[in-house]
Amino acid sequence: MTRQTFPILDNHVHLQPSGLNVEAIKTFEKAGGTHIILSNMPHKGVEITKGMDFLEEYEVTLGLAKKVNEQTGVTAHATVGPYPVTFLKLEQKYGLEHAEDSMRKGMEIAAEMVRSGRAIAIGEIGRPHFDVEPYLLEASNRILRYGMELARDVGCPVVLHMETATPEVCLELAKLADKVGLAREKVVKHYSPPLVDTELNHGIFPSVLASGKAITEALEQGNRFMMETDYLDDITRPGAVLGIKTVPKRTIKLFESGEMSEEDAFVIHKENPQRIYEICINP
Ligand SMILES: [Zn+2]
Repeated sequence: MTRQTFPILDNHVHLQPSGLNVEAIKTFEKAGGTHIILSNMPHKGVEITKGMDFLEEYEVTLGLAKKVNEQTGVTAHATVGPYPVTFLKLEQKYGLEHAEDSMRKGMEIAAEMVRSGRAIAIGEIGRPHFDVEPYLLEASNRILRYGMELARDVGCPVVLHMETATPEVCLELAKLADKVGLAREKVVKHYSPPLVDTELNHGIFPSVLASGKAITEALEQGNRFMMETDYLDDITRPGAVLGIKTVPKRTIKLFESGEMSEEDAFVIHKENPQRIYEICINP
């Protein structure tokens, strides 16, 4: 019996040169996974002191995606962008103006990589997920807005990292997207709780963390969402986030129990990512 006719995509994975990287994705593949969206993150050994340094950071991420595509049966697509917490480190060391300029340059380099077809979205970008001084929050919002403007110009999504999504946060983002002229659906909220009903997410696209009952709750509201682990590939922090097998395991379990129909699986793992990122997903 072939139990799986649909692709299985993890919408938010990190890999590190010092981690398991390709080996982790082989494990993902064995569990039934077929596609990953590889999100950029700060890499050890790549110090960011100015905007142009982001080029080196993104190249590490793109290199890892290439390795996955060459050495496994899984297809990896990359997203690149200046990580929101990097801004705080830059500000502490070099002051607000240099930090903000550097983050903007990081956005521009990311947008250029999308334009040239090497990456599929600008992300993860956004603002710190913890409380910061108001001037830092304001600056983070300005930088975020600039990233959304570049995404609008390039015609790609942004993948957002920030505080926990609530309907209020989603409404704020939806209004910002409207102001910028970026389609609300091109704003992907990573690490989202199951806010699938558009009355709850206001058109922002949820990437739901595949933990516990979240996907069951998400399915009760519909199938307009993607699934993710936010796998960190940090061997010094095992269990800090969901394991790399989580998305395939949970998808197959929900499919076999009948909680996720075959149609839902195709929408979540194929049609949604195809539409949002304008990529082709084949099982
Ligand atoms: Zn992440």
